[in-house]
Amino acid sequence: MSELASQKNEPCRLIASIGGEPDHLVSALSLVDPRTDWIEVRLDQVPKDAVQSLIAAPSLPIVATCRRKQDGGQFEGDEIERGSRLEAASRAGAAWIDLEWGSDLARHLQRFSPARIILSWHDFNGTPPDLGARFQAMRAVSGISLFKVVPTARRLHDLVAIRDLLRETDDLIAFAMGETGVASRVLAPVWGSRAIYAAGAEQATAPGQVSVGALLDQYRFRSLSPRTRMSGLLGRPLGHSLSPRLHNKSYATLSLDWVYVPFESESVEDLRDFMIALEISGVSVTLPHKEQVLSELDEMEPLVRDLGAANTIVRSGGRLRGHNTDAEAALAPLRRRIPLQDKKVVLLGAGGAARAFAFMLPREGCTVTVYNRTEERAKALACQAGIAWGRWNDLAADPYDLLIQTTPVGMHPRVEEMPVPREWLRGSLIYDIIYNPAETALLRAARSRGIETLDGVDMFVGQAAAQFELFTGVNAPRETMNRVMRTV
Ligand code: NAP
Repeated sequence: MSELASQKNEPCRLIASIGGEPDHLVSALSLVDPRTDWIEVRLDQVPKDAVQSLIAAPSLPIVATCRRKQDGGQFEGDEIERGSRLEAASRAGAAWIDLEWGSDLARHLQRFSPARIILSWHDFNGTPPDLGARFQAMRAVSGISLFKVVPTARRLHDLVAIRDLLRETDDLIAFAMGETGVASRVLAPVWGSRAIYAAGAEQATAPGQVSVGALLDQYRFRSLSPRTRMSGLLGRPLGHSLSPRLHNKSYATLSLDWVYVPFESESVEDLRDFMIALEISGVSVTLPHKEQVLSELDEMEPLVRDLGAANTIVRSGGRLRGHNTDAEAALAPLRRRIPLQDKKVVLLGAGGAARAFAFMLPREGCTVTVYNRTEERAKALACQAGIAWGRWNDLAADPYDLLIQTTPVGMHPRVEEMPVPREWLRGSLIYDIIYNPAETALLRAARSRGIETLDGVDMFVGQAAAQFELFTGVNAPRETMNRVMRTV
């Protein structure tokens, strides 16, 4: 058993990782968030003579590494030079030296005393099926204080492999790189990893690294524990999604021991086993998976069947149930603004979001015509939902009461774009479901023509609040959610 294996219940340490040339490192060290536990200093580009002053300066414990190109780093010298940089780091007071499993340096650990050793293994390509066996082989090395296993997650099942590894031991740092791996970084304290690496300066030192600030402030890293309940967002890409911020802020507001995590995945293939194995209570589903997830469900509310899309999955024991909170959230703000009975509605776009309007508005007594850039898709939606369709340019002269804009045109960052010319705007209300930004160029143009407007924030908050309630059984803090969305 290693030195630290006996120290159960050790907290998960937050390590800010910084790298670069010596000058850059000096300024990066001064910018490290003081709430960090340890700092990893990458010595790849630091000559031996500069090591002492860099390592001795910070008051926090230092993890020193020097990664070769073949190990994902920048170091290009020989093993003699690499070893002497790390020896210098230990002499200067580094608490830890990180050495790659199998490297020559890892065969002569005494030379790095008094620093303790982290023995690490990375895979930048994927997660091998024999991850557990590899870890057992690593453990045969003696004199190691902490082990570190970092593959790259390509699919949801790879996250299960990380959690399984962490279950077996308590002297292990394990997480996965890549966008799918982000979840394993956030959940490190829940799964019992002894530490997690975060971006300490403006630039990440590894793919998928989350910043120290985001871990602490958004994900409440310090309050996560094996008792924390998990929810999250399934889709791809998720980098710019506001949902983690919205849900986590809501959990914090109500002091709920929950966390909401991005589960970025190319496919939904492993979703069922993944949610059950990791005891994920529920997930929001976003592009491009809202339709494919139906095949993973045991049950679904009738609306999911009607729309052919689910944006929410709730796990109850070993069963998954699909819900659609988009449709009600799309309509509720409209109902609050105008009576819908007998209104002539134009729907711009025929994608996922348009479907909810196409199926629901006729039930409210509206006559709906869909216009889409790709005519075939407008025809198909019209046929499925029993509504009319029109040719894009005919909208110029088509009279309507209400226009609902569901294309991404005008979304951040291309905020000056409009899906239709200003002259085509008429009627009593223009509803643009884009929420980032809340005020789109289209809405500004509508107002300049004296037409009332409705933005997409209420819809976004509505669907998220309903998800929150399905996951937790607790009333969502809608005011907080609204504030979060309107201050992004
Ligand atoms: P989607 O399934 O990809 O559909 C996009 C639709 O927009 C398609 O009909 C597409 O036409 C059309 N389109 C795309 N680019 C266009 C362009 N340059 N000019 C004209 N039409 C274009 O996406 P979605 O899920 O429906 O989402 C669409 C928008 O709604 C996004 O901006 C999203 O943020 C927003 N949204 C908001 C909420 C909310 O809660 N407020 C919820 C869901 C979605 P083609 O068929 O020709 O490709």
